[in-house]
Amino acid sequence: MTVRTRADLAALPAYVPGRSIPGAIKLASNEVSAGPLPSVVRAIADAATAINRYPDNGAAELVARLADRLGVPAEQLAVGCGSVTLCQQLVQATCAEADEVVFPWRSFEAYPIITQVVGAGQTRVPLTGGHGLDLDAMAAAITPKTRLVFVCNPNNPTGTALRTEEVERFIDRVPSDVLVVVDEAYKEFVDDPHVPDGVELAKAQWARGRDNVAVLRTFSKAYGLAGLRVGYAVGSPKLAEALRKVAVPFSVNALAQVAALASLDAEDELMVRCRAVVAERTRVTGELRHAGYEVPDSQANFVWLPLGERTAAFNEHCLAHKVVVRAFLGDGARVTVGEPEENDAFLAAARSFPR
Ligand code: PMP
Repeated sequence: MTVRTRADLAALPAYVPGRSIPGAIKLASNEVSAGPLPSVVRAIADAATAINRYPDNGAAELVARLADRLGVPAEQLAVGCGSVTLCQQLVQATCAEADEVVFPWRSFEAYPIITQVVGAGQTRVPLTGGHGLDLDAMAAAITPKTRLVFVCNPNNPTGTALRTEEVERFIDRVPSDVLVVVDEAYKEFVDDPHVPDGVELAKAQWARGRDNVAVLRTFSKAYGLAGLRVGYAVGSPKLAEALRKVAVPFSVNALAQVAALASLDAEDELMVRCRAVVAERTRVTGELRHAGYEVPDSQANFVWLPLGERTAAFNEHCLAHKVVVRAFLGDGARVTVGEPEENDAFLAAARSFPR
């Protein structure tokens, strides 16, 4: 006899993180390449003297700061151990076994995994030919069993972003008991004024009596805290309460809480970094197009190369040039926009890839 685990897990693909290879440039996980700010490191070091104590389970100080900053009541916020954990909590909070989640595909790798782990069904809706979310097809994919729809904006890994009217029209088509989660992990890199601020969009929906819109954000990307794991969700009071109920106790650790607060203190400095990444994104996109690559417009801190069957060869070629990109075999490669010299190394590899 051996231990019995769930039979359905055998078919579950593991989440594959971007690889770190010693001596190579890592452009595989959409992190910011610049190291943490000294003020943030200091706050973490100060807080480290008290790590014999459990953290504040509700992260009250962080929640209060975020509530103030976003202009929403604190009861409408829930923090989590990275926004990926909040994705899981959202599915847990809305779906029982026979229920379904609708999401675009290709999109964030964790959506299908989490949905299966929670035991819900899933409908993957292919992207448009332009590598964007197909909101008409997503609306049409909603059935009476659907409880949650993920709208990744900008979309990981393609970088494409939806406009305000598109998202609003979509929400109008979604039944009011189905939760629409606007996943804004890359929000701070958006520079197109037509792309909505999800929290403002959600507020307008709540004001209309539609409580079925929630927004996910993270400190992992623009705020440079990927290693500490902290994100947040903004939703109706009922939803935020449900998220807190399904949370693993103490899952946002003490150092993550102080680092998030210190990062909010240093927001101006961090946003300067984001703008530099956005300028590099424009340069990298232009150079790649000049070299003959198809590159959809990106509003995130990465670009997408839809290379299809040539993705594996491109990945190997980049590795040989000591640049680690994120390959989705048979589909395309996602490349994080890093510091200028990192991007130069990647561009040199891309230019020398035989086409
Ligand atoms: N949503 C999207 C779209 C992402 O790309 C990611 C990270 N790759 C996350 C959520 C989760 O980020 P984190 O758990 O680090 O907050």
